[in-house]
Amino acid sequence: MDSNGFRNAAISSIEEIIGYYDNIETRNVVSTVEPGYLRKLLPTEAPAQGEPWADIQKDIEAKILPGITHWQHPGFHAFFPCATSYPSILGELYSAALSGACFNWICSPAVTELETIVLDWLAKLLGLPDCYLSTGATRGGGVIQGSASEAVLTAMVAAREKYLCETVPADLDGEARDDAIAHKRSRMVALATTTTHSSTKKAAIILGVRFMAIPVRAEDNYALSGPVLARALADCRARDLEPFFLTATLGTTDTCAVDDFAGITSALAGFVPAGAPGEVWVHVDAAYAGAALVCPEVQAATNVALVAGFHSFDMNMHKWLLTNFDASCLYVRDREWFVRALTVNQAVYGNAASDGGLVTDYREWQIPLGRRFRSLKVWFVLRSYGADGLRAYIRRTTKLGDDFAAWLRARADLFEIMTGPSFALTVFRMVGRPESDEDERNALTKALYDAVNATGHMWVTSTVLNGRFGIRMMTGVRTTEKEHVEAAFQTLVGAAEEILKS
Ligand code: PLP
Repeated sequence: MDSNGFRNAAISSIEEIIGYYDNIETRNVVSTVEPGYLRKLLPTEAPAQGEPWADIQKDIEAKILPGITHWQHPGFHAFFPCATSYPSILGELYSAALSGACFNWICSPAVTELETIVLDWLAKLLGLPDCYLSTGATRGGGVIQGSASEAVLTAMVAAREKYLCETVPADLDGEARDDAIAHKRSRMVALATTTTHSSTKKAAIILGVRFMAIPVRAEDNYALSGPVLARALADCRARDLEPFFLTATLGTTDTCAVDDFAGITSALAGFVPAGAPGEVWVHVDAAYAGAALVCPEVQAATNVALVAGFHSFDMNMHKWLLTNFDASCLYVRDREWFVRALTVNQAVYGNAASDGGLVTDYREWQIPLGRRFRSLKVWFVLRSYGADGLRAYIRRTTKLGDDFAAWLRARADLFEIMTGPSFALTVFRMVGRPESDEDERNALTKALYDAVNATGHMWVTSTVLNGRFGIRMMTGVRTTEKEHVEAAFQTLVGAAEEILKS
């Protein structure tokens, strides 16, 4: 494909993408293909001769789109959103055009420098304390990772390094030091709760450290409270375990609960005081709901200023902030721990700027070596929407969730809210008949869930809270408007009434 061929192919592809968005509502939200559908449609070998673009492009509609679940569909109310927007798509286009494995500053200075700048912009928009800025006094800063799972793993590696540096006696060396580290590693435990995303457990598995999930209670709204954490820490001490890491969540996956940052701060102060050797590293997972921090009222309501006393914070712009996958924005209060834990030098990567300590080399802040130019799409989104545009979008989609919850309340004969509305997410179930027990309510709610998903017009996901089956309704997708949420509610009402008749 030469430049002219690219021009024609690109124009035709962009037209097709615009058509896809303009008509997305006509498609089923969830793909209905059978497993293995694509093998039947594609040849068993790559073509021997190159094919014209027109033939390749035809297969998008014919062979690929049938196997796509449309996350940008206005009837997508499942999981959390996986955002995109036209400015973000343009960022990806330029990123692909300027492709490189930009692991060191010299590999493309703009890639590193733009990332540092836009992450500082974002930190200020989110109301993060100054210690997370690259210009802050504590040597903080942000880095874009592929996912929240990579972010928590990276934070845990740094936390382990910090804990071992601070607690293994400095006068030990050689085999005695190795033995002391091996013993400590066998006692170290990463803490989370039963509603923390599974990525924290996965990080502990990968690192070979113990993992403990602290049970949370319905009366705490499924969030971690100070007294519950204090008891778990005391339990660890009694069992000779050494907690070194805690994930605190701002917006849990099941219900969008926010852990009690003030309670966590005081429980930890009673265990190992902040700043003392062996303090517990607190990582805040705000993968989804962190986007809402662009609104000052959310910063106040979630007590985000308290993350100044924690160690790392992560949010995914690719969930609810109009930027396509992948853009997980990880902030650290002291970047030195990333660099100490993750720097492995090899002669081939040496260069004057890096060796002189003049620049940031993001390969030292992440697990892979190479990295994409992700900050371009973040820059395009922040500039195209501006702070006001982002706030308007978050407030609009949050309000859709509040409206939906109000409609549920107005049909208290059919529905009961289990949690929320919280960050455009409500979890609810069917009330059932007067004589219904918990098992029957679960069965009726499951029947409702199956019935509405079978329509193809909407997709919701489910959860189980203390043995009670609930439907999660999320309203954060960019294309979702009030009329779509109203239509989804009417579908739910119609299906619920049918189920009760049968
Ligand atoms: N943390 C929370 C609270 C989540 O809801 C999710 C996914 O939905 C994750 C982490 C994992 O996100 P990722 O796919 O970026 O690893």
